[in-house]
Amino acid sequence: MSLDSVKRQLAEAEAKAGRAPGSVTLVAVSKVQPEDRVQAVIDAGQRIFGENRVQEAETRWGPRRDLEGLELHLIGPLQTNKVNKAFELFDVIQSVDRPKLARKIADAAQSAGRCPRLFVQVNTGEEPQKAGIAPADTDAFLADCRAMDLTVEGLMCIPPVEESPAMHFALLAKLAERNGLAGLSMGMSSDFETAVEFGATHVRVGSAIFGERAYD
Ligand SMILES: *Cc1c(COP(=O)(O)O)cnc(C)c1O
Repeated sequence: MSLDSVKRQLAEAEAKAGRAPGSVTLVAVSKVQPEDRVQAVIDAGQRIFGENRVQEAETRWGPRRDLEGLELHLIGPLQTNKVNKAFELFDVIQSVDRPKLARKIADAAQSAGRCPRLFVQVNTGEEPQKAGIAPADTDAFLADCRAMDLTVEGLMCIPPVEESPAMHFALLAKLAERNGLAGLSMGMSSDFETAVEFGATHVRVGSAIFGERAYD
């Protein structure tokens, strides 16, 4: 378990980028990880976790929902028929990626009288197989969210694996700034230090903390 070294690297990246200490939130991505590794990271004091599947997250975190300070982020695709379940489980939904989902979240927020914190996922590489709003459609989508009374805190992206991530981080930062959004969820195990340089407020780190996943 390498939580401490990731935290150290993150602190160094903050310092190097001239960012305030602790200004970047570390989301520990526990998807697919075995129970003993997850428990070790909890025992080491980590309280902010990311999961990419609602069902898996429920199995792992449902019994732990009362853990003091626990903050759960959904970072994977959300089917509209699981929105209510996601409302019960997650503090933050980072993967708002299409109009139909935004509508469903707005409806659920109306009936629940509350809403998880929201990030809009942008497909910065415009990859056909990847979820997210196209960069050119992002301003309009955010306006639609506002019209539905949804408060969006920031943007999230997963850059193409085969490309250098810096230009994608820069693009996401530009889109967020132009829309007055403070949150930037970007950077994973291999590139979170670069993401901090480009203004990430949230980094999503899995394997560097927990070790390699058996499958994805
Ligand atoms: C799995 C995953 C991560 C973590 O990836 P690592 O390379 O293990 O750090 C981050 N973000 C998303 C959306 C993921 O699905």
